[in-house]
Amino acid sequence: MQISHGASAEFECSEREELAEDLLAPEAEVLEGVALRVYDEAREDPYDPVSPVRLARALIGSDAVTIVPRHALRTTWAMLVRIGDRAHIVVRRDVPEGELGHTIAHELAHWVLRREGMRDTEEACDYLAAALVAPTSAFRRALALLGPKLARLAKAFRTTETLVALRWGEISWTPLALVRPGRVRVRGQLEFVWPPE
Ligand SMILES: [Zn+2]
Repeated sequence: MQISHGASAEFECSEREELAEDLLAPEAEVLEGVALRVYDEAREDPYDPVSPVRLARALIGSDAVTIVPRHALRTTWAMLVRIGDRAHIVVRRDVPEGELGHTIAHELAHWVLRREGMRDTEEACDYLAAALVAPTSAFRRALALLGPKLARLAKAFRTTETLVALRWGEISWTPLALVRPGRVRVRGQLEFVWPPE
């Protein structure tokens, strides 16, 4: 990830992996456990998920999340920065509503994983963010209530259909691959074989 110069030059890039490269990225079960510990530390109930802003404020501090104009973060929607000795999640004002929770949760995941001495790869942060937006217990209950309907699940968790589709794959072990420009995400099957061309 790049940061733009000028207005955001003082920001520390959150994508820099500070921990040793040979440290293994945490696996899914570990990240599910981290998500539960985050809810526990924030004194929130993972059966009744709260906004990642609330989680970030509980863990980092009341001023943990700062909204900035688009020009302050030209190349990314959000960033974990250090101002003095405090961490802040800086989020662009124009992040689409459905993406906001996961965007903030992703930056919170960087902060949490670094604090726990785990390697905060982008994949690990994406996974942990999804587990914070839609914790397993709440997601299972929503699936039972609403059925596997992506639009309804996305609305229930105030997030995107992409996120709930990935979460569905993670939790139900349903083989699933989502393809987005430049990125392929596979969930739910250990030995996924890419279909022949
Ligand atoms: Zn990141």
